[in-house]
Amino acid sequence: MTDSVRTDLRNICIIAHVDHGKTTLVDGLLKQANTFRAHEHMGTLIMDKGDLERERGITILAKNTAVHLDGAALSRLDGIAGSSGIHASTHPDGVTINIIDTPGHADFGGEVERVLNMADGCLLLVDAVEGPMPQTRFVLRKALEIGLRPVLVINKIDRPASRPAEVLAMTQDLFLELATDADQLDFPVLYANAKAGTASNDPAVLGTDLRPLFEAILTHVPPPMADPEAPLQMLVTTLDWDDYIGKIAVGRIHNGAVARGLPVARIDRQGAVSRGRIGQVFIYKGLDRIEVEGAQAGDIVAVTGLDEIGIGETVADAENPLALPTIDVEEPTVKMTFGVSTSPFAGREGRFVTSRQIRERLMKELETNVALRVEDTDSAEVLMVSGRGELHLSILIEMMRREGHEFQVSRPEVITKVIEGRVHEPVEHLVIDAREENLGFLTESLSKRLGRMVNMVADGNGGVRLEFSIPTRGLIGFRNQFLTATRGEGTMSSILAGYEPWRGDISSHRNGVLVVDQSGTAVTYGLANAQERGTTFIDPGTEVYEGMIVGLNAREQDIAINVCRQKKATNVRSSTSDISIRLTPTVKLSLEQSLDFIEPDELVEVTPESIRLRKRLLTANERARNKKDGSRAAATV
Ligand code: GDP
Repeated sequence: MTDSVRTDLRNICIIAHVDHGKTTLVDGLLKQANTFRAHEHMGTLIMDKGDLERERGITILAKNTAVHLDGAALSRLDGIAGSSGIHASTHPDGVTINIIDTPGHADFGGEVERVLNMADGCLLLVDAVEGPMPQTRFVLRKALEIGLRPVLVINKIDRPASRPAEVLAMTQDLFLELATDADQLDFPVLYANAKAGTASNDPAVLGTDLRPLFEAILTHVPPPMADPEAPLQMLVTTLDWDDYIGKIAVGRIHNGAVARGLPVARIDRQGAVSRGRIGQVFIYKGLDRIEVEGAQAGDIVAVTGLDEIGIGETVADAENPLALPTIDVEEPTVKMTFGVSTSPFAGREGRFVTSRQIRERLMKELETNVALRVEDTDSAEVLMVSGRGELHLSILIEMMRREGHEFQVSRPEVITKVIEGRVHEPVEHLVIDAREENLGFLTESLSKRLGRMVNMVADGNGGVRLEFSIPTRGLIGFRNQFLTATRGEGTMSSILAGYEPWRGDISSHRNGVLVVDQSGTAVTYGLANAQERGTTFIDPGTEVYEGMIVGLNAREQDIAINVCRQKKATNVRSSTSDISIRLTPTVKLSLEQSLDFIEPDELVEVTPESIRLRKRLLTANERARNKKDGSRAAATV
């Protein structure tokens, strides 16, 4: 087999912490690829984020973008480049840079590893003020482990507080720690103002456009080594779904070529071979997928027609099927139930409410969401859904509710395993960056959650980095507390470290709740009464039902409350009596906060318009009877 080099191609992944300017930079590369003009007047950002990603500040699904430098663009590059060995004369059809986005959260760790596999280099983008962040560190480590050649871009060099020299030193330290070979320490450094579309090799010199970055990528990222004559091998790294064309398998062709209608073999993760035929073939162009007749080794493609194909499997030559090493698909660590809503308000706000609709939606999700598992339970109305972490599942819930689904979910629980007769639980490596004044809160709260500190480094500037080994269980609900305690300024990221023997019980730290004892509409007077007992979650005018949770009690027990109660009419008419009552602002729980909040005998009711908390058993009688029976939580409702 003779490897040939695809000098017309570069596959690079981009690693950046949220807000460090990834979108802006890729946008600039796209715009300048064809024009090399500063792009102030070229309209809005074109690499779009989904709503969910924007709200949560993370990239959920890796997307591919292809920047094409045509012959004319290359001749312009030649003016300053030269060292890349790529010229318009040698590459009349130009060069394509495939930019592979990486997910920004450790819950998507498995996906990160898979998408990195498509690249030969990585572009690390770091903010010139903030420096490298913990999430980036996790992805960077993976990238260096598989031998990707790095290019560093220090961005936002124009910010007044920018400190490129320090940020470079911090990043170099990081590389020293993470690099797996000495060559990786010898990386080009670019200083960029992505907003202005400029980059420079010298922090003291402002660039005029992004040419130095193009040049660095072409020079330092190796072109794919691939043999187009060899038997076909393509590793499937992501799956997509389209209602019209069905399942789409995305991956890099390692050897050989694909073409429309080509008979192929599919090799699953156990090595079993089956036959299939490629439908359509797509490559990436700009932000789009465009259909082509075929593609060859080195290309990143999307193919249809292989309906059974899964992530980590090889699409191989029909005659000579050779598997590529499979890539790990992470096991789920957290589970919860998704059930038909049994709320008295069921069906009011959702378009899809039946168990068949919930089941169908989850089955469709299984087609592309690899780490997800869906199992039946004792009840036909309830499914057990397992995923990689709280965030993985809460994003699914949020997507479903935005699509019009209405259902109810239980508290997330970790998935334990019995190893050699002992119960083991998932344990994570947690990295926190915070201020020293948060130390007390962090160490106390995490040790209650059975975390063990494994490292602590102060940066001498009031900042501190802490590392813990902590059960996944202990992290459930921690993120909210953390964000509040650090006023949103701390960062935390965790990654599954493995399974360890069960660390013991974590005492529940939540008080009882305020439970509605009469259905109706909440009024100011009733809520004011409730606020004498604790914190409330709803506003006046909210419709409530018996068994709905509307607040947190200041004490340990649950307490029934009538939030619909009006002030008794008196003889003395006072038109201002209701108005004069001042309610403390209510606490509005987000979906994630609600999932963290509930106990096993409670549920979150999710609809396109509302997130309600409720007791599983709605009437006080049922709850009292259940308590007498000794079992706190009914198994499924
Ligand atoms: P992403 O989350 O990494 O994709 O970041 P974005 O590209 O959305 O950028 C986040 C914010 O930083 C936006 O408001 C950008 O306009 C701004 N930004 C990006 N690059 C620069 C830069 O070089 N200098 C300055 N001052 N702001 C920038």
